[in-house]
Amino acid sequence: MKDSFDIKKWIENPDELLLIAGPCSVESKEQIFDTAEKLSELHQVKVLRGGIWKPRTRPNGFEGIGEEGLPWMQEISQETGLPFMTEVATPEHVELALKYNVDALWIGARTVANPFSVQQLADALQGTDIPIFIKNPIAADIKLWLGAFERFYSSGLRHLVAIHRGFQDVNAAPYRNNPRWEIPIELRRKNPEIPIITDISHICGCRNILQQTAQKALDLATNGLMIESHCNPNCALTDAEQQITPDNLKSMLSELIIHKSKSNNADFLLQELRTQIDNIDDELLQLLARRSEISSKIGVIKKENNLTVLQLDRWNSILSNHIERGKKLGLKEELVKEIYELIHKDSIDRQL
Ligand code: PEP
Ligand code: MN
Repeated sequence: MKDSFDIKKWIENPDELLLIAGPCSVESKEQIFDTAEKLSELHQVKVLRGGIWKPRTRPNGFEGIGEEGLPWMQEISQETGLPFMTEVATPEHVELALKYNVDALWIGARTVANPFSVQQLADALQGTDIPIFIKNPIAADIKLWLGAFERFYSSGLRHLVAIHRGFQDVNAAPYRNNPRWEIPIELRRKNPEIPIITDISHICGCRNILQQTAQKALDLATNGLMIESHCNPNCALTDAEQQITPDNLKSMLSELIIHKSKSNNADFLLQELRTQIDNIDDELLQLLARRSEISSKIGVIKKENNLTVLQLDRWNSILSNHIERGKKLGLKEELVKEIYELIHKDSIDRQL
């Protein structure tokens, strides 16, 4: 047995990348033992995951092995030295998971979407100090995600981690869940003390884009990855398309470029470039303020001459000219369009 990894210590100082791997669902003793033994041979894997209770979109599918699977996880965790974690959605799940000495819990995306359920879990966990990994809710609602942190925090839980697993979106292709990277970045900006793990398996939903998505998460300074791994993915009872064998995980890891978060030389160069960016942002803001002032003056003339505030021809030509100009400068059409839509809305509001 190897020395057991200390999840709480990692949360207090999440410098090294945390890799969590294991099957979507625990299916049988053989399956979880085989998978965990192989994963424990990869030195990068620190924590074993396995779903015991599975939230399924439709009934009659495999809804998880239930309590029967917990002693298997406990046993293989002791044998391999890998701490284990599972998903809880009800106070009964919490009670059972704690009975089998689970090392950490995660709260699923569907559960986080329901504040009643989150509150029940926070109440059930009061008085424990178990690490809780909180997935983002399925809708792209950062307040709901933060609300879950506040509920657990109020129950006295101090070891909290975020899991970014993407957001439901009809336009998510090629992903299963749209990553919307700006949302975890905003979470980090608002709460820099919360470590963030990227669940690339539920973001991707398929194997062929896992590698590039893992790299993207690392480039954006994630604190860790959660990856579904199964000894025989094609026969998995849940999420078969997105799970990979421990062998495939090994080769994927060997190709990832893991960045350091700090380097003196790079820090110096970054500092220089950031100063330039700060200066440009300041100029942008001053220009925007000047533009707004002029727009207000135009508003006065329109009122005096009984003209409508919205002048559609003028707006259409502004938009198409700026998109063209932006393209020549190497700016994406959506970027220019979205910026000008906001600027135009502000002008209209000032003139109304
Ligand atoms: C899972 O991790 O297997 C799972 C069900 O995830 P999510 O809640 O992100 O859908
Ligand atoms: Mn899954």
